[in-house]
Amino acid sequence: MNMKARAVALLSGGLDSILAVRMVQDQGVEVVGLNIVLPFVRKSPETPEAAAEWLGIRLVKEQVGDDYVTVLRRPRFGYGKGFNPCIDCRIYMLGMARRFMDREQAEFVITGDVLKQRPKSQTPHALKIEDKASGLDGLILRPLSALLLKPTIPEQDGLVDRGKLLGLTGRSRRTQLEMAERYGLHAFSTPAGGCPLTFREFGGKARSLISNMHELTLEDLSLLTVGRHFYRKGAHIVVGRNRAQNNSLLKVRTPKDTVLQVTAYPGPVSLIRGTLSWDTMLAAAQLTAAYSGAPSDAMVPVEYATPKRTGTILIEPSALPQQPPTR
Ligand code: SF4
Repeated sequence: MNMKARAVALLSGGLDSILAVRMVQDQGVEVVGLNIVLPFVRKSPETPEAAAEWLGIRLVKEQVGDDYVTVLRRPRFGYGKGFNPCIDCRIYMLGMARRFMDREQAEFVITGDVLKQRPKSQTPHALKIEDKASGLDGLILRPLSALLLKPTIPEQDGLVDRGKLLGLTGRSRRTQLEMAERYGLHAFSTPAGGCPLTFREFGGKARSLISNMHELTLEDLSLLTVGRHFYRKGAHIVVGRNRAQNNSLLKVRTPKDTVLQVTAYPGPVSLIRGTLSWDTMLAAAQLTAAYSGAPSDAMVPVEYATPKRTGTILIEPSALPQQPPTR
């Protein structure tokens, strides 16, 4: 065994990725972890940092670039059951892993993939596509399912002993839980927090955002984790649901955004991002008033701050005013 072999691992913090690294470490390979951050994925309690600490490896975190929006908008290999473009997303992440591997002067990439565990991105066909399209053909070692896959270059070169790898397939986690028990890995017995794009509700929100807004950044995507969402003539209106969300909206506000708020009654902070017109301002003001604690027949003052000016719109929550108010 070549003790100097070096690999990088995609480390989500979930059990499969930890076990995959551990199996390769057990063969004397030095591993560096790469955790790829998506803007809309909520933190799970099982963090990659804790996983890296348990493994005793160095961890680098990298956020996907703004070009990830294109992956979501036009995936070459389509979506899964939700709005999850898994194959394209995996190709994108493996591309990041390839560049990371080069920078780290490592020989191959480790992933915690288990064949057929996910219906779309972990079929033999999908794995082949991901290997080729990422430029890592033969260099992605999947220790948990390796025996069911073609031998990789590190196996052929003797950097890794194929005889010590596994041939797991399907959704059962029995073997992984047994391994976790053996390794004393109790804190990581569940998979890392799920990807919201696979959830019906969040997937629907992402779909609406992409179809309503022609230009998007990662920050726009992360807005989806907060509030109620409305679209009007090239603008995205987000209305906070509670105080915590109101604070989040105020924190993520950029100099180009407009903020609206009812101060005479308890109520939401609303944020407008995108093309700003008076019509959109009125719609946002009405939504802000409608979700506030104001009586439905009251005329509610909604304060606003656009990038250029501040003012107040007097509005009835249930009806849009015909004339723009004076400042
Ligand atoms: S589940 Fe989400 S993060 Fe994972 S590959 Fe699919 S789209 Fe990407």
